Amino acid sequence: MKPALIVHGGAWDIPEELTDACKNGCQRALAAGWSTLSRGGHALDAIEAAIIVLEDDPVFDAGYGSHLNLDGRVECDAIVMNGATLHAGAVSTLHGMKNPIRVARAILENCPHMMLVAEGAERFAREQGIALCNPEDLISETEREAWLKCRLDKHAAEHHRGHEQGTVGAVAIDQNGNLFAATSTGGTCCKLPGRVGDSPLIGCGCYADSEAGGVSCTGYGEAIMKIVMAKTAVDFLRQSVVCVDSPHGASCEPSSAQLAAREAVHLLAKRTHATGGLILLDRHGNPGFAFNTPRMAYGYVALDGNFVTAV
Ligand code: ASP
Repeated sequence: MKPALIVHGGAWDIPEELTDACKNGCQRALAAGWSTLSRGGHALDAIEAAIIVLEDDPVFDAGYGSHLNLDGRVECDAIVMNGATLHAGAVSTLHGMKNPIRVARAILENCPHMMLVAEGAERFAREQGIALCNPEDLISETEREAWLKCRLDKHAAEHHRGHEQGTVGAVAIDQNGNLFAATSTGGTCCKLPGRVGDSPLIGCGCYADSEAGGVSCTGYGEAIMKIVMAKTAVDFLRQSVVCVDSPHGASCEPSSAQLAAREAVHLLAKRTHATGGLILLDRHGNPGFAFNTPRMAYGYVALDGNFVTAV
């Protein structure tokens, strides 16, 4: 089959001056993943390559440049899921890990468990030959300044304008039909140490099932968890018809990638009154995306092979 790839860099109030940087990051992530997929490579290699580009880019809230927790430390979460086996590898509350997605992948491939946290995850990473870095090396100047302002003042959104959120994610299908989804984040700014959001939780921040499709979410984690948003979107993909509420009563439409994305975000707004977004690929590789924030950074490879990015 034709390979497919979609990525995101978070759904939030991205200010005008950062839109180019966000688009650029998505473009480079697509290029990294597509160089593998277009040469017949494996979806897992492609998705890892795409996520690493996004984690390394400080404009996004993952890896280097993640938001700082209340103690001023970077604390990362990540997950990758295999749609064929429904097996996931997830990590949470990692300190000193430049690319948390690499640890998630190592768990997926080499661990009898599906999720490891904190010291246990770091120990596993070392055993797998994945080096830890100095936790200070993950702190960007922009995030340190925002954190300092939050500590002096009460945590206020205006201190984070420009880097409020920005979790990253990707979904990839290779020519052999292997489907993987992944999400990586530094979580929310000034979170309590030990806080785990939706991102690394199977079904919440990420889900993949080769029978239906793959999803990566972004937004207010405490709300996304309530509606298990990634699995909810995959369930919409599985149905042949999706029935939706509208001001004029319920109406039913044939399911599609775009409809599934839209209805999952609609449910988030309706049931939790929170904001967020998601990207997905259905099992045929059709892209879908939706968000109820002012903006979301995302990109996908169109049918003609061109990269489409938007903010
Ligand atoms: N969902 C992430 C979290 O709650 C944040 C985000 O997507 O920006 O940790």
